[in-house]
Amino acid sequence: MSKVLIIGAGGVGQVVVHKCLQVPEVFTEICLASRTIEKCNKIASQLSKPIKTAKVDADNVHELVSLIYDFKPELIINVALPYQDLSIMDACLETGVDYLDTANYEPRDVAKFCYKWQWDYQERFKNKGIMALLGSGFDPGVTNVFSAWAQKHHFDEIDELDIIDCNAGDHGQPFATNFNPEINIREVTAKGRYFEMGKWIETDPLSVSKIFDFPEGIGAKKIYLLYHEELESLAKNIKGLKRANFWMTFSDNYLKHLEVLQNVGMTRIDPVLYNGQEIIPLQFLKALLPDPSSLGPLTKGKTCIGCLIKGIKNGKQKTYYIYNICDHEQAYKEVGSQAISYTTGVPAMIGAMMMLTDKWRGKGVFNMEELDPDPFMEKLNIYGLPWKEIIL
Ligand code: NDP
Repeated sequence: MSKVLIIGAGGVGQVVVHKCLQVPEVFTEICLASRTIEKCNKIASQLSKPIKTAKVDADNVHELVSLIYDFKPELIINVALPYQDLSIMDACLETGVDYLDTANYEPRDVAKFCYKWQWDYQERFKNKGIMALLGSGFDPGVTNVFSAWAQKHHFDEIDELDIIDCNAGDHGQPFATNFNPEINIREVTAKGRYFEMGKWIETDPLSVSKIFDFPEGIGAKKIYLLYHEELESLAKNIKGLKRANFWMTFSDNYLKHLEVLQNVGMTRIDPVLYNGQEIIPLQFLKALLPDPSSLGPLTKGKTCIGCLIKGIKNGKQKTYYIYNICDHEQAYKEVGSQAISYTTGVPAMIGAMMMLTDKWRGKGVFNMEELDPDPFMEKLNIYGLPWKEIIL
């Protein structure tokens, strides 16, 4: 019997609400809160069972605290934006409520992934006797659990990890992002970074690429090296790891538009004076681009996200690939969102289920790979993200 407060009524929030309602024995009461209450009410109107909705500015700790005292949840699922992570964690500390998110904190004025800000809550969460689960989406999230599963069941030692994220879907729009445009473009235009022999090596944005042959008919696609937040925690928690990379596919069309937008300054995140008013070009661009949630009915094709892992088992070299394929149209049919929101929202629900059923329990701040992967892997197969593994 558990009450959850879901914060953020965007593409991912919509999936989380739908998936929590599929498990009424765990999620007995749901409140969806966001900055724009109309968006919460719109999602609520599509559901088969009633939920509560509320307006909250999640940058404001006092507003959050009064909503928490009013609704009295056991857990907060934060699927607003990375900017709100710390204020929501502060509100959890003040009220003694567990916390879960899908993306690590980013300050608005620097496009930078770094767990330090959230890892710094470790002692305070421990002392308060509450738990924070960080990055319970797909990547980060399932990719961390895949790595922990490989370490537990397939390897004595993991040497190399390549996380490879392919969106082979097509929405037919000239240029659109599959999740929040501001967060997506900040991530893609940042410098690349990989882990090698205990050191971090930086690369120019999108300057390293290669071809990867994806399974199940997706075929060969160009993948680009990016820095992604789960590399930081995996480099710390997968003992003996020598090299870790994160790769993502982009269509030529996406890259062409992005290059032009960058060249004309539209991806800048510093304020620019326009007609006597300060505007941030990337935030203005977000207002022009299609809302990711509008892509649901348009997107066809599949995503394939997985981990390619090399290491040693029983004294022999082993190469292992574990992945999930998710179909955009099927995701839309089930929950009214495309596969990017679906592959994030389902693991957020499963992470919440792990915490509320005490399968994952602890005091302090945890990354996904620090917890037993087995019950989470079992639930992925049941709740819409089945995985496959191949020994190469
Ligand atoms: P959206 O932009 O679609 O939704 C974000 C929602 O948060 C919006 O409803 C927005 O409100 C709300 N919000 C923003 N600021 C505040 C605030 N101050 N107070 C209350 N609500 C606020 O984003 P997505 O659903 O695509 O993404 C949600 C999260 O999921 C992001 O953090 C993203 O980085 C993460 N993500 C993680 C992935 C993973 O695999 N781990 C993959 C994809 C996304 P409003 O509508 O009023 O603007």
